[in-house]
Amino acid sequence: MKLFRTDLITGFTDRLFEIPVDSLDKSDLVFSSGIIRCLCSSESFPNGFKIKGTVTVPYLFECDRCLDMNSDERKIPFTVWVTEDTKLIDKVNLDTLFFPNTADEIDLMETIYDLIHIEIPVKYLCSNSCRGICVRCGVNLNHQSCECLEQSENTVLEA
Ligand SMILES: [Zn+2]
Ligand SMILES: [Zn+2]
Repeated sequence: MKLFRTDLITGFTDRLFEIPVDSLDKSDLVFSSGIIRCLCSSESFPNGFKIKGTVTVPYLFECDRCLDMNSDERKIPFTVWVTEDTKLIDKVNLDTLFFPNTADEIDLMETIYDLIHIEIPVKYLCSNSCRGICVRCGVNLNHQSCECLEQSENTVLEA
């Protein structure tokens, strides 16, 4: 997602960028749609520009319990500062990117990619009441029941 210096100087509000997921060039993620949308605004500050917006990511997560794939669109807010002032960069602020005054454009792809990754949950359940998969016959118990469960429940009751 490239932003041109000329556009940053002018400033913009709620501009929509559509990022094809193919351009992420990372195979460890799957999405329910081919487009990640980024709506953002830009304003100047003394040595650079502040870019603020929201990335809408059409995630497709696998439930840890039943292994079903679930689409889960999330809106991730972000703010980045791009600046030619290396003193600001030195503060080890990940939200600040170096934008030398010789550069005509800056690519925010890495920032977007990091945002997408931060939002991925370590553990994901399709719902808190997900019934998971039967360990004996492998059916998804959210969609159908099986006899194994009833038998084991009976066993428990009898015990
Ligand atoms: Zn589930
Ligand atoms: Zn079963």
